[in-house]
Amino acid sequence: MSRVYNFSAGPAVLPEEVLKQAAAEMLDFNGTGMSINEMSHRSKAFDNVIETAEKDIRDLMNIPDNYKVLFLQGGASQQFAAVPLNLMQNKKAAYIVTGQWAKKAQQEASKYLDAQIVASSADQTFSYIPDCSDLDIPEDADYVYICENNTIYGTKFKTLPNTKGKILVSDVSSCFLSEPVDVSKYGVIYGGVQKNVGPAGLVISIIREDLIRDDVPDFTPTMLKWKTQADNGSLYNTPNCWAIYMCGLVFKWLKAQGGLEEMQKRNIAKAKVLYDYLDSSKMFKGTVRPEDRSLMNVPFVTGDDDLNAKFIAEATAAGLVSLKGHRTVGGMRASIYNAMPIEGVQKLVDFMDTFEKANLK
Ligand SMILES: *Cc1c(COP(=O)(O)O)cnc(C)c1O
Repeated sequence: MSRVYNFSAGPAVLPEEVLKQAAAEMLDFNGTGMSINEMSHRSKAFDNVIETAEKDIRDLMNIPDNYKVLFLQGGASQQFAAVPLNLMQNKKAAYIVTGQWAKKAQQEASKYLDAQIVASSADQTFSYIPDCSDLDIPEDADYVYICENNTIYGTKFKTLPNTKGKILVSDVSSCFLSEPVDVSKYGVIYGGVQKNVGPAGLVISIIREDLIRDDVPDFTPTMLKWKTQADNGSLYNTPNCWAIYMCGLVFKWLKAQGGLEEMQKRNIAKAKVLYDYLDSSKMFKGTVRPEDRSLMNVPFVTGDDDLNAKFIAEATAAGLVSLKGHRTVGGMRASIYNAMPIEGVQKLVDFMDTFEKANLK
């Protein structure tokens, strides 16, 4: 078996221990004589899976009792519509646009309400996080929306915006469970799990109970109404059983590693190896303002398309894969999620250093 170091932005690297456990349980899950993929979502065995997963993520994130945890389908993109539909009272919201995912969320919300852009970093290709300490947030805004870690551009909010008392809604898809969070500062936190947590096809939404309302617009699809999902324990219809099971294994793995404080320590140490190298390199440059750098997604460029292509090809051949940057940024991007060991980052940096010495004119 030869595993590569996988720097994909998502779906992305998963802990090897988790993959091995899933493989071992594939034919006979927990003495049931069947795979988790073959059993009823209303079975006792699956009940135990989803309940344990919820309990473990509550422990990991220290989620207060007045928040619901929903396991939903449709990805983070579907929540772009669910957020305005479930939260609209005054039909106005404030969006901070720090990249493509925030922009898509703002555009989707615009179908239903007045989604005002109160700050943006579009002027410099989203390479920084705007100052959000004193924004012009409408008095009657139903919520303030952010994408907390910008997967494509590699920026991260290091301090949350001053929402002036409005509900904060955050898409944490690419920084989910990468560090401790104070859930009580948010009204809604949600993330597609295929970046930092599990396989594709599941979005976890953590929602303050009083924001789960019955009085949503009549045309709201039943499936997008959070109350439908909350009242049915995420089992209104058949959920993504496999992804819930896999996330449950990852939650156990995270707990065994020492929880989110420990993950934060490791993620800081890992990112430092790469950023320190980028700051000293004469060939490779990071694209993000240093104070706004993400610990999870690290874009970098050489400034020469041919050299970028050569680097990606040679890195791939050396077992360092999925390093091609997003087409809107170009160059390279290394996603170094929880499951990427520091050895992988060190190997990448050693490779970059060798490449630089061989190719610098
Ligand atoms: C990948 C990503 C999305 C889209 O996720 P889907 O689950 O594919 O809909 C949304 N927001 C962020 C921050 C992402 O990284």
